[in-house]
Amino acid sequence: MSENNEVREINAETPQENTETVRTRNFRDFSPVRVGRILLLILCVLFLIGIWFHNNPSSPVINTDPEENADGTGEGETEPAPLPAELTDPSSITVLVNKTHSLPADYVPEKLVTPYVNSTSDVIQVSSKAADQLKEMVTKAAEDEVTLYLTAGYISYETQDDYFHDRAGMVGEAEANKVIAKAGFSEHQTGLAFDFSDEANGTATTVAFAETKAGQWLIKHSWEYGFILRYPEGKESVTGYSYQPWHYRFVGRDTAKKMHETAEDLTMEEYYNVN
Ligand SMILES: [Zn+2]
Repeated sequence: MSENNEVREINAETPQENTETVRTRNFRDFSPVRVGRILLLILCVLFLIGIWFHNNPSSPVINTDPEENADGTGEGETEPAPLPAELTDPSSITVLVNKTHSLPADYVPEKLVTPYVNSTSDVIQVSSKAADQLKEMVTKAAEDEVTLYLTAGYISYETQDDYFHDRAGMVGEAEANKVIAKAGFSEHQTGLAFDFSDEANGTATTVAFAETKAGQWLIKHSWEYGFILRYPEGKESVTGYSYQPWHYRFVGRDTAKKMHETAEDLTMEEYYNVN
């Protein structure tokens, strides 16, 4: 019996030995050097996939003011969809210019004209695309016995650069950034943005303008001529600017009408659903 048992044990162990031998051989195939090479290959592939996604042409490259990302208003890493040409073409009357989207430093409106309306300066120029509607609006306001003074129209990149640095020198860059745009980020460079006052230098660029006859008339009627209040009260988180009741933007009659019908004090950012 003992001999038979030994034979059985030996027979029983034989398959196990075979299996271990096979396992040992397979394990040798995956030696540390080989595993290291495979891991390196996987990492290279992942790295290349990462680079491809980062440079994917479907992700638009938007002019971004890096300092604006520090205020926490961004939506994280979500890439915005490409904007339509009507918002990105500097010569479009609905071009979007804000703290995220800027104009080229050398952009000058194709045709600048002097509107010859009541103004605080004889040298104010505006884009020819808005001049007729601006004159019509000022004329209609006058018929309602409201005097609109134009205090600013087109402002060149260089002049805006001077304005910003003058203000920043007085109140610091962070405070200046709330009320005045950096060069390239000002709508006034389009020739389609206008600052009004009720009388020459009376309430120019002050919130008090909102309570004047001129301010009230503009809020009520400006859209009829293609203008929108660009920085409404309570929309600072959307526009990046504090309330500016004196600053109006020409976007054309159709767009201004649609915006007016959509909601009160609608901003371009909200209307086009962009940042
Ligand atoms: Zn302005």
